[in-house]
Amino acid sequence: MGAADLIKQHLIDPEICIRCNTCEDTCPIDAITHDDRNYVVKADVCNACGACLSPCPTGAIDNWRTVHKADAYPIDAQLLWDELPAEVPPEVSATAIAIDAAPDGLGAVDTPVQQVETSRHTSARAPWSAAHPYVNLHGLRTPATATVAGNYRLTEADASSDIHHIVLDFGSQFFPILEGQAIGIVPPGVDASGKPHYIRMYSVASPRDGERPGYNNLALTVKRVDVDHDGNPVRGVASSFLCDLNKGDTVQVVGPFGSTFLMPNHREASIMMICTGTGSAPMRAMTERMRRNMEHFAGRRLLFFGARNRRELPYFGPLLKLPKDFLDIHFAFSRDADVPRRYVQDAIREAPASVAALLADPHGHIYICGLKGMEEGVLRAFADVCASAGHAWSEIETALRAEGRLHIETY
Ligand code: NAP
Repeated sequence: MGAADLIKQHLIDPEICIRCNTCEDTCPIDAITHDDRNYVVKADVCNACGACLSPCPTGAIDNWRTVHKADAYPIDAQLLWDELPAEVPPEVSATAIAIDAAPDGLGAVDTPVQQVETSRHTSARAPWSAAHPYVNLHGLRTPATATVAGNYRLTEADASSDIHHIVLDFGSQFFPILEGQAIGIVPPGVDASGKPHYIRMYSVASPRDGERPGYNNLALTVKRVDVDHDGNPVRGVASSFLCDLNKGDTVQVVGPFGSTFLMPNHREASIMMICTGTGSAPMRAMTERMRRNMEHFAGRRLLFFGARNRRELPYFGPLLKLPKDFLDIHFAFSRDADVPRRYVQDAIREAPASVAALLADPHGHIYICGLKGMEEGVLRAFADVCASAGHAWSEIETALRAEGRLHIETY
């Protein structure tokens, strides 16, 4: 076989993948599938378009092995993997051009590198002024060990959700994070098939200088999962583990992850944050960053926060005491007996002047985090608000995406 038969096979690292389904959702040609354990790529369908690469929160998606087309790893094999196979240089006949010696460095192989560059035009990118994030410092083989410094329930005793604020201390270990990044938690024990649990990812809810300023610690917002999507009782593996932790317990942590959902760092930047439920975690981190450094952030701050009712609001109680010119907060309660049912998109439509102004501001940055379904409704509300203000949403959206000013993280 010659170099012309070689392909760069696209693979997903099962050790890092957090099974968030983002890649399968993003793939425009249905080349990604999964079972209850692994996410895998169909070699005969994937065209290396790269659309899935930048949305992947962990980088598990960005793995490639040079193989002869006929020897591509089949789906059945990939579904059984616990780790990626080692890169084995494929045999190439003596007359063929060696892959590394080809003029462009990759010979006949369809390089994914160019495709990554292409995908950046359409996918999320970091704000130009964002600080440089560290990613993947600790993998599953070398997790950091964090010690629980505190764990308390955020939601009121009569609330139906059990949401916890958990502070993890990293001691002398190097685990730098930026607002908007996430960490992976490795739940102890094994699953029903006797394999280690896969990692679960949580956004960091504290700013870069620590939950307590100057301390090497961070905070997470964790909602105990006790029902599945159909309302049947279940016990969330990672959320139960985390919510039940006591001070002094230790946790295996991987990451940090995420290099796009980052806050701008220039003085003129204005920020609109839209979140539901525990999607408020990164918004708390960003708000705290700005509150602690008010002299540096001269732009406007708008927050649209959706929750079932007041008793289910994680955070922002203390922030309500802040002046409105620091944070302009709009709540939307969907199951509150005292107020009509409202969602974040309703709240956005009810504040058309400030929303339209921030969308049209070349220094305006938008952050959306929370439930999967919210993205569509929020973008539609933006379009309506822009139309009423005489602005062309399609042009604004294109600019926001191209300039790394629209950030969406939904699950
Ligand atoms: P939740 O309590 O179930 O819902 C919060 C609010 O969002 C409710 O008012 C809900 O209304 C509303 N909502 C439901 N569907 C919506 C839609 N399509 N558009 C707008 N609003 C909608 O939320 P949660 O359980 O906390 O879930 C938050 C999400 O954030 C999860 O998917 C989680 O994975 C994700 N997240 C978590 C973290 C973290 O670090 N913990 C970080 C990032 C994201 P109803 O009353 O009608 O249901």
